[in-house]
Amino acid sequence: MLTELHTTESEATTREAVNRAVSTLHAGEPVALPTETVYGLAADALNETAVKRVFEAKERPSFDPLIVHVPDKKSIRDVAEIPDDLDKIVTQLVETFWPGPLTIVLPKKPHIPDEVTAGLPTVGVRMSNHPIFGKVIKAFGGPLAAPSANRFGRVSPTSAAAVMDELDGRIPLVIDGGACARGIESTIVALEENEPKPLIRILRLGPVTADDLKKFGKIDKSRRNEAVEENAPEAPGMLASHYAPNTPLRMPESAAEFVPEPGKRYALLSYRGQEKDGFLDLVDWEEIAILSPGSGRLPEAGIRLYHVLRQLDQLGVDEIIAEPFPDRGVGSAILDRLKKAASIR
Ligand code: AMP
Ligand code: MG
Repeated sequence: MLTELHTTESEATTREAVNRAVSTLHAGEPVALPTETVYGLAADALNETAVKRVFEAKERPSFDPLIVHVPDKKSIRDVAEIPDDLDKIVTQLVETFWPGPLTIVLPKKPHIPDEVTAGLPTVGVRMSNHPIFGKVIKAFGGPLAAPSANRFGRVSPTSAAAVMDELDGRIPLVIDGGACARGIESTIVALEENEPKPLIRILRLGPVTADDLKKFGKIDKSRRNEAVEENAPEAPGMLASHYAPNTPLRMPESAAEFVPEPGKRYALLSYRGQEKDGFLDLVDWEEIAILSPGSGRLPEAGIRLYHVLRQLDQLGVDEIIAEPFPDRGVGSAILDRLKKAASIR
């Protein structure tokens, strides 16, 4: 299959790209689209055949559910059944964080196909704030199922070039909307009625942090950990293989813990490239990639993480060594992804 790549540099090219995306989606084919988190592979969420194409292109196992994107805030009610006792918190979260990188897991409406939710009675719903994604989904006029536009078990793409690396020849259309503004997958929460405040269970850490969420409910982290240990089907996005480069990756707790083996070639994934962090001089690194040079800004590190991991993966080194990241803000989501990438070998 020939994969068309459309840019969105001018008004005219954007209009053409959006039209092309909408007609492809209406024809039941998947389209790779930019979102603020990572590129998504979108398909008509109500068309089972179109959804199957997404699974095929990604080689994604059918037990892994897709996130459903809606065109506007009110449309959450078209795809999810919101229990009365959660109505208030759902409204608050939607009003505060949408459009934006927060996915809310709720009981699904019956017309959402089982293919989308992997047979689960729940659906993860999100509204992207990416202007191109917004134009496409509004013109399309219905919900789009859109997981990350990578082959299963690989690093999520944060540019159109990365999507082409992943899916060239497997899908008909990629829309280039530039680099993703957040660079890391959406935060996923499940909600539970509880007194005095509802429980917010963080199923996947992301750009919306526990700190951002805590005024709306009681953050339940214990459940998250339990689910990770069991690989609970409730959030397969938590499986380690989702976030791993091909090159083995290790994250020592401190510089002292890293003892290089003679003859091995290493690359360093550094947070801010500072000598005082202790990693720069440990070995003759094949490459040092710095995520946020200088004093270090975690959101910037998040934006660059997958792009830089892809670059380091190309080097053919024996191992990528990742510096530890501060466990706060977006740093917690970065740590989460790196720990998972490190744990699978
Ligand atoms: P991706 O967009 O590729 O990161 O994949 C979507 C991820 O969203 C899945 O792997 C799950 O972790 C999560 N997800 C989607 N739907 C649900 C759901 N109904 N319940 C829990 N998690 C979900
Ligand atoms: Mg994914």
